[in-house]
This record gives sequence, structure tokens and C-alpha cells, in this order.
Amino acid sequence: MLNFSTLLPPGHQILAANEYESVLVVLSYLIASAAGYTALAMADWVTNSRSRRGSELAKLIGAIALGGGIWSMHFLAMLSFKIGIHVHYAPWQTLASLLIAIAVSYTVMHLIGRESLTAPQYLLAALAAGLGIATMHYTGMLAMQSVAVQLYDPLLVVVSVMIASLASLGALLLAFRLRGRTGIRTFWLRLLGSLALGFAIVSMHFTGMAALTLAVPIGFEPDGLAEVNQHLELGMGIALGTLFIIMVGLLAAWAGERFHAQRLRLERVSTTLDQITLHDPLTHLLNGGSFIQTVDRAIGQARTGEQFALLMLDIDHFKRINDSLGHALGDELLIQMAQRIRAVLDNDLPLARYAGDEFSLLLPLGQRGDSQPLAMRLLEQLRPPFELAGQRIAMTFSLGIAHYPQDGANAGQLLRSAGLAVGHCKRSGRNRSQRFTTELQRDADDLLSLEMDLRHALSQGGLHVAYQPIVDPAGAPVALEALVRWQHPVLGPLSPERFVRVAEETGLIADLDGWVMRQACADLAQLHREGHAALRVSVNCSALNLSDRLLPQAIARTLQAEDLPASALILEVTENALMHSLNVAVEVLNEIRTLGVRVSIDDFGSGYSSLAYLSRLPVDSLKVDRAFVRTIPKQSNDMAIAAAIIAMAHKLGLNVVAEGVETVEQRQFLQANDCNFMQGYLFGRPMPLPHLRTWLQQSAIASVPA
Ligand code: C2E
Ligand code: CA
Ligand code: CA
Repeated sequence: MLNFSTLLPPGHQILAANEYESVLVVLSYLIASAAGYTALAMADWVTNSRSRRGSELAKLIGAIALGGGIWSMHFLAMLSFKIGIHVHYAPWQTLASLLIAIAVSYTVMHLIGRESLTAPQYLLAALAAGLGIATMHYTGMLAMQSVAVQLYDPLLVVVSVMIASLASLGALLLAFRLRGRTGIRTFWLRLLGSLALGFAIVSMHFTGMAALTLAVPIGFEPDGLAEVNQHLELGMGIALGTLFIIMVGLLAAWAGERFHAQRLRLERVSTTLDQITLHDPLTHLLNGGSFIQTVDRAIGQARTGEQFALLMLDIDHFKRINDSLGHALGDELLIQMAQRIRAVLDNDLPLARYAGDEFSLLLPLGQRGDSQPLAMRLLEQLRPPFELAGQRIAMTFSLGIAHYPQDGANAGQLLRSAGLAVGHCKRSGRNRSQRFTTELQRDADDLLSLEMDLRHALSQGGLHVAYQPIVDPAGAPVALEALVRWQHPVLGPLSPERFVRVAEETGLIADLDGWVMRQACADLAQLHREGHAALRVSVNCSALNLSDRLLPQAIARTLQAEDLPASALILEVTENALMHSLNVAVEVLNEIRTLGVRVSIDDFGSGYSSLAYLSRLPVDSLKVDRAFVRTIPKQSNDMAIAAAIIAMAHKLGLNVVAEGVETVEQRQFLQANDCNFMQGYLFGRPMPLPHLRTWLQQSAIASVPA
């Protein structure tokens, strides 16, 4: 201990004072502990805050609670010092000490908010905080003005700074340890920690006070009541105010914690939701929507020059599996497929069941990669038969490939390009892979503009029907084939083969065929009224319309509207079409025949003709494909086939129409083989109704016996 008597200013004596107002001492300790608790709780909020603003707010509230707490603890402790002197506190210095306390606390809160601290950083931070608290303490002491002169023992001052630093170090360590933890254990740890912290702060203060010796002028008489009236009230006031601040801080910390817990719960829920909304429940692969997002993200993060391949894999004739084996086995096939595809890929490649029976995946190609090897491996992997309910079923696939950036700048465009490539595979016989090309795009564009023009023509009366006579062996007309015509405003007359395909690919075919049928029936009714009462009309029907169960009703309505007997109408359906759509088509055709409408198989012999199959089809007649007629009499093979078809059809009780008869030799050959009816340029080309009328009159004159 320093001997202050040597340092005494002249005319001064040492004031013996070591009494404290115990209520204020206890209060100051409680406040210091409460402030410590708030700061520790606030530390959690600082680290949990994801927004900058949130963490700044938490730091500020924490700093005010902690700084205000330490400061008022210190102030209260000073007030509790019973020295019997009238004391005046210089306002600016008092305020400065408060601001210092808050600033130091803010720094501490800021440090706690960091990821981690190294050991030297801990020590430095603790030392800085200790020095800060000490500065606050001694600034506050200097604010105290009275007759007394303050003398300090430097050793004890140093000890007080060390205690403050150690307390800060303890607080920092504790704060880092308890960060991000919840639960009752953490609560107790935090409480114990803050009580210890409070004790450390108070110890620091009283060590600082012990360093102080007051010197008063010789002969000064202490006033025993000096503190009692002024200090106790003031002290209580400050204590209450500070407690209020601390309470607010605690409440804020509690709310912050609740908010954080709530957010964690929400995040868990949203992860589960993500799992559900981002994945296909059947195969657990990504679904279409999330695949698009994933691809766009990958492209967005790609380095310059980096390329990708988007592969789209489509099962050929998947509908047949569903139709014949049922949807459960269809699903099973999809699951097995997903597993096989996964097995070929690196695990983290985005793979999706994009839609129905369509799988998509994204392959990074680096700077100049090739997608072909993977495409081959995929098709190879899918080649062995699949085991479905004990049956081994081999499937084929169509694979479309689009490269980024050449074939599309984003997921949407790449998918469209790959889809066009898949479409091309399907049209050219399936079971193949195809890279996107600009021709495919041009075809698609043409298709789109043709579709729009066709739509327009359908609604604005731009289509016409031409009629080609079908004659009996004597050359007398028995029926007319209705053939649609379209004079395109820019492209001129278009072949029906071309725009019928457009209508089939764009879903317009039902409207188109419906329109032709209504027009043909109206024209036929008119011809009947003009005296050609025995004529029938033969109308082409796209196979796609045969899956429409409402077709029979629509036909019945059309006939009724024109007051035509059902026997006046023949429906021409291509054979290939019947092979594909099976059950539903057969049902629909049966219903149509029940009405009394006849059904004819068009282009017979051009597809996979199956006699056994033919016998089961609900048809009345067949039209031998033009190809067999054209080569008569040059190709003896074709002639033999034509003759055989006619003979076989007769055995099955069907009538036979030969199409494309252009020469007299052809006519004679067909007559010799008992062909029932003929159609071709030899008799008449397809012609508009007015021409047909003239033709009918001329043929009537020609057939009148001389
Ligand atoms: P298709 O049903 O086989 O029609 C017969 C086609 O052969 C017609 O061609 C006709 O002009 C042509 N043709 C008739 N006689 C001869 C001949 O002696 N020699 C040659 N070389 N050709 C002859 P078009 O009118 O171009 O029709 C082509 C195809 O378009 C039709 O083939 C049919 O599949 C389809 N089509 C026509 N109109 C319609 C329709 O209203 N609906 C549907 N779905 N398809 C139609
Ligand atoms: Ca036809
Ligand atoms: Ca035909």
C-alpha cells in the first residue's frame, strides 16, 4: 500500500471513509448481473440475425443494456460510498462515462457477432474491454466534484484494469460457448455466467474504489446526513431506470430467440415442402418445374465458354404399355427406367421426369465436350428387356439432344429444341437419337405459321371440297370421294397430305374432318335433290378422330341435319391408324356402323397388312393402295398382290375399291379380277361441285345405251 501522507496537498488530511450504503451495493451487483445476462442473450440474437439491420439492432440494444448496466452499477456503487461530503457530479463527464460504457459494450457485442476469434484476438479484445471499462470508471470518478481531492494507488488501479479485462475475457468465452444454444441448461449456464460477470464488474469497481484515497482540508467536518437524503433517492431512480432498460433488452432478446426458433421451424417445413414440390413422387427424380430452375441456375453460374447438353428421353409407344398392361405396370416401368438412367449418371447430375414418359437430364460438357458417348450409354443401358409382372418387355426410346449455348440460351429454349429433336426421332421411325438442328426449328416455325393460317382458313371459309367419282365396272358413278382443298393465300394450292399432317400435329384435325364431312353431306343432299339419288359420299377420317367417343354422335347429327340416310355415307380410315389405336377405335367404328354408315379401309396393303387382323375389324370394304395399281401391267409381283387382295377381301365378304386407275390396261386387269369399284384419273379427277355436275351429266349420257 502506498503511503499517501507523503502525497497530501498542503493543508489537507486523509478522510477516513470505508462505509457503504448496503442497499445500493446489492442493487448495483444485481444490475451488473442483469446487464450481463441481457448481453449474453443478445449475443445469440446478433449471431442468428441473417439481415445486417437485424444484427446491428441487436448489437445496439445489447450495447445499451450492457453499457447502461455497467455504468449505472458503477454510479450506484459510488453513491453508496458514505463519506459525508456534499458531492456534485459534473454533467458532461458523467455523460461521457456513460457513452464510454456503451461504446465498449458495442465493441464487445460486435466481436461476439463474428464467426470466431483466435486466441490472441480474445486476449486483445478482453484487454481493450477491460481498459474501456476502467476508463469509464475513472472518468466517472473525475466527474465527482467536492471539497475532497482524489489520490490513487497506481498498483490497485492496475489490478482493477486486470480484473475488468479478466471479467471481459470470461464474458467473451462464455458468450461464444453459449451462442446458438437453447434449452434450460443454457439458461442456467447463462444465469451463472452473468452472476459471475456481475461479481467481476463489482469487484473491479471496488478495487478501483480501494485505490482511491480522499484528502479533505484540515478541519473539515463530515456531514453525516449528506448522502442519506440525496444519494438514496437518486440511486433508486437510476437503478429503476437501468433495470427498465435491461428489461427491454431482455425482452428483445427473448423475442429475437422466439423469432429465430420460429424461423428454424418454418425452414424445416419449407425443406419438406421443397422435397414434395420439387420432386416427382413416383421416381423421386426432379419434376419439370424444378428441372427448369436447376438448368437455369447451372447456366447462370457457368463460366464463359462452358457448354452443356440437355438430353430428353422419351419412351416409344408408352401408351401401349398403359393401355395393355395397366397404369400400375406403366408406373413400374417408369421407376425401373429412372433407376437404370441414374445408374449411368454421376450422382449429382440433374435428372428429372420432365413429364409423363419423358426424362430429361443436364450434362456439363466443359469447354468442348461431346454428348454422344453418354447418349449411346443411356440407350445401351435401356436396351435389355424390363421385367414387368413376370413378363420381359423390351422397349425402345427416342432421344433428343440440345446443346447450350448453340441450341438455346435458357432451360425453356433448350427443352423446346430437345423436344423438337425427339419429335423428329418419332417421325423417322423412333428408336434413335437426334441432335437438334436449325432445319428442325425451321420446320417447327413453318408448322406454326401453317397452323395459324389453317385455323384462319377453317373459320373464314378458305377451304373447299373436291369430289372424285368412284365407279362400278361399267363406269357408272356410285360414290364420290370428298377430298379437301386449300388455296393458301401466299403458298398457293397446298397438297392435303401436307396440311392434313399439320392439322393432325396441332389438334385441328377434328375440326377439319368435321367441316369436310358437313360440307360433303350438304353437297350430296343437294345432288340427291338434283336427281342423283343413288350416289354416296366417301369421307376421309383421320385415325386420331377415332379416339373421340363423341364422333358417332357428331356423324349422326350431320346426317340428320342434311336429312340423309346413314347408308349414303362411307368413312375411309387408314389401316395403319387402326393398328395403333386398337380398342377404342374399334368400339367407335362399331358404333358408327350401327348407325348404318359404312367403313372402308384406305390405302390397304401399304402398311403391315394382317389378314387375321383384318377379319376382326368392323369394316365393309377396302381400298387397294395406289402403289399396287400404278405398276399394272409392268410389275407382275404387284399384280399378283392386287389380285390376291381382291380375292381375299371377297372371301371375307368385303367390297374392293381400286384407287389410282389411270389406264385402260389397269381397268381391264382389275375388271378381270372382279374388282368391285374403281377410282382414278381414267374416270375423273377430283373436281369442284360445279364441274362434278357437268361430269355426272356427261357420264349419264355416255352410259345411255345407243
Ligand atoms: P387418299 O385418301 O388416298 O386420296 C386419294 C388421293 O389420290 C387423292 O389425292 C387423289 O387426288 C389421288 N388420286 C386419285 N386418282 C388418282 C390417279 O389416278 N392417279 C394418281 N396419281 N392419284 C390419284 P389428294 O386429294 O392429294 O389427297 C391426298 C391424301 O390426303 C388423301 O389420300 C387423304 O389421305 C388425305 N386427305 C384428303 N382429304 C382429306 C380429308 O378431308 N380428311 C383427311 N383426314 N384426309 C384427307
Ligand atoms: Ca381416301
Ligand atoms: Ca387411299
